[in-house]
Amino acid sequence: MKYISTRGGIKPIEFNEAVMMGLARDGGLLLPETLPAVDQQRLLAWENLSYQYLATEVLDLFTGSMPKLDLDEIVECSYSSFRHPQVTPVRKAGDLYILELFHGPTLAFKDVALQLLGNLFEYELKKTGSFINIIGATSGDTGSAAIYGVRGKERINIFILHPHGRTSPIQALQMTTVRDANVFNIGVNGTFDDAQSIVKEIFNDLKFKDQYKLGAINSINWARVLAQVVYYVFAYLKLQRAGFDSVDFSVPTGNFGDIFAGYVAKKLLPEGCINRLILATNANDILTRFVKQGEYSIKGEVTTTCSPSMDIQIASNFERYLYYLRDQDGAKVKEDMAAFAAGSALDLTGVREQVKRDFVSRSVSEEETIETIGSFYRDQDYLLDPHTAIGVRAGQELQEDRPMICLATAHPAKFGDAVQKAVNQDVELPPALAGLANMEKRCEHLDADVDKIRQYVQRHALQ
Ligand SMILES: *Cc1c(COP(=O)(O)O)cnc(C)c1O
Repeated sequence: MKYISTRGGIKPIEFNEAVMMGLARDGGLLLPETLPAVDQQRLLAWENLSYQYLATEVLDLFTGSMPKLDLDEIVECSYSSFRHPQVTPVRKAGDLYILELFHGPTLAFKDVALQLLGNLFEYELKKTGSFINIIGATSGDTGSAAIYGVRGKERINIFILHPHGRTSPIQALQMTTVRDANVFNIGVNGTFDDAQSIVKEIFNDLKFKDQYKLGAINSINWARVLAQVVYYVFAYLKLQRAGFDSVDFSVPTGNFGDIFAGYVAKKLLPEGCINRLILATNANDILTRFVKQGEYSIKGEVTTTCSPSMDIQIASNFERYLYYLRDQDGAKVKEDMAAFAAGSALDLTGVREQVKRDFVSRSVSEEETIETIGSFYRDQDYLLDPHTAIGVRAGQELQEDRPMICLATAHPAKFGDAVQKAVNQDVELPPALAGLANMEKRCEHLDADVDKIRQYVQRHALQ
């Protein structure tokens, strides 16, 4: 299995190279040259596999030359940190099925991908004898999942900048209580945008970047998408075992990462297994407008909502879907992305019918989100986090006569303020979070000054 760029500007590369490269060198995103497919017979053979065995089987279709035994070990290790034996269990709640993706170490679905990515990095670096210094800025969620993905690993140091005092207290604690020697938390005196632009500036210093082998953790790494394909297949198989042969998924979406994994899963499984993919957004509805009208365009500023992990203006993984919309023509995608960069808008009305076959979309308001958390708690005795509530609301409204599986992307306690507002009572902290406040913390406070932060990184970087 070789990997190519959505913009057609690189020679095909191997899976391991794709993982280490992250963003393609021509500025595009990496994708498999052809998408694999499995038949009904294979699905039946997979029906009773544990999450881990299934993950090895699915990943093996995409990794190519990697020995299956090694893959098996990496998968075992990645999901041993999950608190549920089924890793991502499916629960029935009323007419819906909830796919719980929040049993990892930081209680959000990004753990599913970042635990695997950390182990893939470690495996590859050990093989090549190399090292990496990961630098990233976070407004909260991704930072902690990335830190937990690589904590304690050899040949990897990680530097995470967060805006000091501007993340939720729990998010800050999740990061700063990790005291492994390879983890460096930097609380920046400034905003998330300040932190992000400092990281960008450091990456733009190519001499520095090459010397210290800087790596990124953003959601465009192919391995992150791939790890997420597994739970769609896992959930489908559960329902198949219960006698269904076709399901819908409802996915709360920000950067188009999670829903794109669903798109890959839909193509992987026999026709019709995944019937519809419901793309649910909050007030930041660029993707809903795209599905409904065929225009992909930025409108106004980012709106702050109670589902902050979906507060985005442009969706970084969208380009992967665009590649298929353009019949895998990299030159066309490159043209499109240049047009989008120049005008903040892309007219895709010509392929609107295809988009409508691939996705159904719904944007959910703040009031509807809070209302859904409240009513779902009353009716099902089940607490939804605000991101999950958006998918559930869309799923309820668009349900047809087949199972609707809603992805639960975070534990409700992680966004306790919004949940408390909806149900009028305190949300109990799970043990993993309850103990954090009393733990020792490690964090460097620095001004939002690129030179100071670069010097700090330099002093603590692997080399
Ligand atoms: C990141 C995140 C999302 C959005 O995922 P995308 O891959 O960006 O679509 C949804 N919910 C939670 C809790 C998240 O952390």
